[in-house]
Amino acid sequence: MRCPSCGERDTRVVDSRDLDDAAIRRRRECATCASRFTTYERIESARLTVVKRDGVREDFDRDKLASGLQKALTRRPVPAGAATAAADAIESELRSQGVSEVQSSVIGEMAMERLRSLDQIAYVRFVSVYQSFSDLEQLKREVDTLYAERSAEAPGQASLGLVAPMPKRPLAAPRPGAAPRTSGAPTATARRTGRRS
Ligand SMILES: [Zn+2]
Repeated sequence: MRCPSCGERDTRVVDSRDLDDAAIRRRRECATCASRFTTYERIESARLTVVKRDGVREDFDRDKLASGLQKALTRRPVPAGAATAAADAIESELRSQGVSEVQSSVIGEMAMERLRSLDQIAYVRFVSVYQSFSDLEQLKREVDTLYAERSAEAPGQASLGLVAPMPKRPLAAPRPGAAPRTSGAPTATARRTGRRS
């Protein structure tokens, strides 16, 4: 393989690490420009065929699934590698079922489930782009369900983040009977601003 920076063929492995029982990750360094890049080596598994909606069959493509998930997760507050991890988990689940063919809609539903627990905005993005929900009413019902669930979990926090957050309000007055804020050491805010109570 060629160095992605300069095209040199001579690269050396500087680090090698097992990812799991079926994959290894290698850091390589170009002999010419010294740039480093990563390669993955994994055991080729039995063929898994995806049957698309129009009946066309194609090999399951984990990277394609990961990039679809990554698009939905762009700039969302999830750990780096979340899309790849989700794609890996979906592939493992499919392979553990021992089937050789799977409907693309089944993979879509598995991806939706993963995204739904990762990040709700990413979930809505994915549903609107990748699922053939030509019926927007269906997406609206999905969003309404999310709103309802969120409201049940945290009353008053029903926003999905689709709109800017409310401006911060000034601190509420202390509740009657609450300990006075000014007792003891100055608060962090007071120390930072030099304000004395
Ligand atoms: Zn190079």
